[in-house]
This record gives sequence, C-alpha cells and structure tokens, in this order.
Amino acid sequence: MFDNLSDRLGATLDKLRGRGALKEQDVRDAMREVRIALLEADVALPVVRRFIEAVTERAIGQDVLRAVSPGQQVIKIVNDELVRTLGGDPEAEEGAPTPDDNQLKLDVKPPAVVMMVGLQGSGKTTSTAKIARFIREKHGKKALMASLDVARPAAQEQLAILGQQVDIATLPIVPGQQPVDIARRAMEAAKLQNFDVLMLDTAGRLHVDQALMDEMKAVASTADPAEVLLVVDSLTGQDAVNVAKSFTDEVPLTGVVLTRMDGDARGGAALSMRAVTGKPIKFAGTGEKLDALEAFHPKRVAGRILG
Ligand code: GDP
Repeated sequence: MFDNLSDRLGATLDKLRGRGALKEQDVRDAMREVRIALLEADVALPVVRRFIEAVTERAIGQDVLRAVSPGQQVIKIVNDELVRTLGGDPEAEEGAPTPDDNQLKLDVKPPAVVMMVGLQGSGKTTSTAKIARFIREKHGKKALMASLDVARPAAQEQLAILGQQVDIATLPIVPGQQPVDIARRAMEAAKLQNFDVLMLDTAGRLHVDQALMDEMKAVASTADPAEVLLVVDSLTGQDAVNVAKSFTDEVPLTGVVLTRMDGDARGGAALSMRAVTGKPIKFAGTGEKLDALEAFHPKRVAGRILG
C-alpha cells in the first residue's frame, strides 16, 4: 500500500536529506513536488492545500533553515503533518495513554454494540468477522455477530459461514424477520449469553439512498451502538471519502474501516478521510483472509509512507 506515493515523496525528500544549507526557494520547490505527488495519489484538493500550507509555514517560518541539518528537519515536519492528516498526534509517544480515538471504545455496559454500515461490496461482512476476531485476539472479549441484511439473499448465511471460519458465534437465522427485530433479538441473546460485544452487520446498497439511511437510523436508535463503523473501499479513492461524508451527515459514525488497502498503491482515501469527514480511520483491511486487518495507527502509517 502507498507504494506510488511513497516512491514519489521519497525521491523528493531525498533531495533535501543531508543538505547542509537550504534556501526558502528549495523548500518551495520541494513542496511543489510534494503537492503533485499528493494530487496524483488522489488526495482531496483542500487536504492537499492545507498540508502544503502547514508544512511550508513551519519549514520557512521558524529557524529551520538555519539549523544544523535543515533537510532532516523539513522531512520531520512533513512526517508530523502526515501524522496529523491521518488523525494522529505527532507529539504523543507510541503507546502513551493519551486519548486515542483510533481505538475501539468497548468499555460500556455489555454487550457493547458495534454497528457496521456501508455500501454493498465494500467488504462490510468480511470486516465484521475480521473485527470480531480482532476483538477476541486483542481485547480478549467475546463477540456475537448478527446480520441484519434481509435485502440480499444469503447475506445472513454468508456471515454464519465466516463466523464458523473464525470460530465466532452468529445469531441463529429466523427467516422473515425485519432488521430492527433482528437487532432486538440479537441484543437479548447477547445479554442472556454474556457476550461482551455484539457486532451488527447491516444491509448494504449499491448507492447511498434514503431508505438505507432510514434503516440505519432505526437500527441505531434501537441498539444504541458504542461504535458505528463505516466500511469503505480504499480503491475508490475520493468516492470513498464522499460516501463517508454522506453517511456522516445521517448516522452517528464513530469511525471508518478502509478495506482493500492491500491493493491501494495511491493512498488518497486514507489521507483525505480524517480531514474531510472528521472521522478517524480505525482499521485497515489488508487482504481477503480473515486475519488481514490492522488497527490504524497514524504514526506507523506515516512512517510507512515516508519509508
Ligand atoms: P459486503 O457486500 O460489503 O459485505 O462485502 P464482502 O464482505 O462480501 O466483501 C466483498 C469482497 O471483497 C469479498 O470477496 C472479500 O473477500 C473482499 N474483501 C473484503 N475486504 C478486503 C480487503 O481488505 N482486501 C481484499 N483484497 N479483499 C477484501
């Protein structure tokens, strides 16, 4: 992931690295190239503008150019701004107990409901199973999964099959039940059987439409979710960000899951998401296998982009 962007930025920043002296014009020239690299990575234009402005201001506004290794300092400024753009705090120490809204918040009265929303084909059902597994491995919590997708034939069976593959329980299927009723039954079952977490895989659609939004709202008001995660396909670039924006206006999203990051050499969706939607990316899907999921750490991702 990020291969193209990483190569372009690397080549630009390598020219600055190790330089004993830098002029303002050198920084401006480098930023012109960074700008092109970000645009080619399909990062949203306002995000690119803000990024370049912030870096330029810090790099030429302070004593950076007179410092001992100005090139290194400019690279650090670029790195810090990447971390901020991705939703992180560059000053925070790795693993420090600072409020980190990229993490799942599951410390509520059980069952903590995690509602998964998104368009059809985004990877929502796969991500539901991946996250249930992640919660068991990383949080030591037991999850029950339920599919509320009554629109797509076999959607509920698909989740049951994934559940078997990762050894996560799924709610027994009762044909003919409506989404809100399934959600209620799932909450009852999770309470009775002492599950810590309830994952609700909601119905997808081909496009954002009002019927879908109304269904999401009805489920959310019934299930009072601790997390509402929107699943979007990173390969769709700025479209992924636009989908996120339209969901944000309708349902109380707490975060985003970006799938198919394994195939995304550009990275535009990842870089634009936080700034455009105000929502943190919580997970990255990195393959079809059910363990191909990474918690999204802005610092690590920024490090990966800069190589
Ligand atoms: P849904 O319609 O949103 O529920 O989508 P599915 O969960 O059925 O996923 C659609 C396809 O995308 C399946 O073939 C998944 O294996 C695949 N998929 C999901 N997430 C990822 C990912 O992170 N990387 C890759 N390469 N494929 C994925």
